[in-house]
Amino acid sequence: MCLFCRIIAAEIPSTRVYENERLVAFDDINPQAPMHVLVVPRAHIATLNDLQPEHDGLLGEMVRRAAAIAGERGHAAGGFRTVFNCNAEAGQTVFHLHLHVLGGRTLKWPPG
Ligand code: AMP
Ligand code: ZN
Repeated sequence: MCLFCRIIAAEIPSTRVYENERLVAFDDINPQAPMHVLVVPRAHIATLNDLQPEHDGLLGEMVRRAAAIAGERGHAAGGFRTVFNCNAEAGQTVFHLHLHVLGGRTLKWPPG
């Protein structure tokens, strides 16, 4: 099982901020901003390249949940960033799809 499948199965501890039948959200262990949450589907999908049309609803729910979590933490108006890293050149290190949700500081653009 991959790292995030093990976190979803609670074999590895995490600080969960949300969960339902389709996704789990938890704090990143190495936060890059005051808010750094990962929104992760329960289904093991390795990368964005592996998405199928049947995942469209799941992806919409992940993005809406990211915005809801940012809102709960007071970052809706000030702003926040959502990021999917896909494969090596983008810096993906865990090959189980996840949406980074970052906020609480001014974020630079373009990203490094
Ligand atoms: P990426 O580089 O886009 O694949 O993102 C993987 C993220 O998972 C990184 O931001 C890591 O800090 C985070 N991460 C790795 N291990 C854990 C863990 N055990 N619990 C929470 N987050 C983790
Ligand atoms: Zn997995």
